Amino acid sequence: MKKANNKRAAAAASLILKLVCAALLVGAGGVRALAAEGEGDVKHKAPVVSAPREVINTMKIAGMKVAKFDEAVLSALARRGAPTTGVMCDGRDPVARRILNEYGAVFVAGGGALPPPICIFATAAEVESFQLAARVASQEIGGITIELQPAAMRALLAARAEAHSMGLDVTPRDGSESARRGYADTIRLWNSRLLPALEHWRGQGRLTHEEAERVRALPAREQVAAVLELERRGIYFSKDFSKSILYSVAAPGASQHLSLLAFDAAEYADERVRRVLARHGWFRTVRSDCPHFTYLGLEERQLPSRGLKRVNTHDGEFWIPNSPAA
Ligand SMILES: [Zn+2]
Repeated sequence: MKKANNKRAAAAASLILKLVCAALLVGAGGVRALAAEGEGDVKHKAPVVSAPREVINTMKIAGMKVAKFDEAVLSALARRGAPTTGVMCDGRDPVARRILNEYGAVFVAGGGALPPPICIFATAAEVESFQLAARVASQEIGGITIELQPAAMRALLAARAEAHSMGLDVTPRDGSESARRGYADTIRLWNSRLLPALEHWRGQGRLTHEEAERVRALPAREQVAAVLELERRGIYFSKDFSKSILYSVAAPGASQHLSLLAFDAAEYADERVRRVLARHGWFRTVRSDCPHFTYLGLEERQLPSRGLKRVNTHDGEFWIPNSPAA
C-alpha cells in the first residue's frame, strides 16, 4: 500500500516536472507538441456571440471533483502514448494560456478522436499534414458536404438518426465551413475582425498610424500577442469593439475546425438537440460560441475527470477547461 502511494507520488512529481519541462521547451523556441487547440470559430455572426462573462454559476457535479485541466491534458497525452514533453502549450505564455482556456477542450478528446498535436498550427502545411493523418470522412447533410474525423462523423450521424426519431434534426449552420476548415480560413476570419478594429481605434485616436501598421504587419503568432496586449488596455478587437477578439473569432491556426472535431449546428438553441448530441459525445466547449459543438467522444459524466467544468449561462450549458485565468 505504501509502495503504491510512493509510486503515485512519484508519478505526480514526474507529471509536474514534465509540465515544467514542456513549458520551458516551448518557451525556448517552439518545440511543437501536443496539445491543444482551439476553437475558434470565427465565423459566427454577431448575434450568437454572447457576453463572455455571463456565467451565472459553475455547477458542481455531485460528489465529483473536477480535475485540473493542464494535468488532464498531460494524462490524455500519456494515454495516447504521445510524448508529454515538448508538446504542450506553455501555460505561462499568455497567448497559449488564452488559447488553452478558450478552446482547449479538444485536447482531452477521446472516443477515437485524434486531438491536434500542437497548441497553435503555424502554417497551412501543418494543418494539411495533420488532417491527412487524422483522416477525413465526408458526408452530405442537408445538401451540404461536411467533413470530419471518422469517429466524429460516425457520432454525428448517430446523433442525427436519434434526433430524427424524435422529430428533430441536426444540420450545418454555415455551409461546409460548419465543419472542416483550412489554415487560410482562420486567417481570413481573423482579419475580418482585426483590420476593421485597427481602423476603428486609429480613427478614435487610441492607436497611431504607426502602431496600427506595426500590428498589421506582424506574423500571426506575434500579432495575436499584440492584440491581446492592446485588449488589456481596453482596445478591443471583437466585431463591435466591446470585447476580446477571441470571443468573436479564433486566433489563426487555433480553431477546433482545423482539427476536424468541430461542428456548428443550426439547431443549437434547442436543448433537446443539445442533449442528443451530448449522448453521442458532442458538447459545447467554447462558451461564447453558441452553435459550436466539439467532438470529445466521452460521456458527460466523464468530463469533470478530464479537466472540464460545466458552466451555465443565459445561452445554456458549456463544458470548459478548468484552468487558471490567463
Ligand atoms: Zn464552430
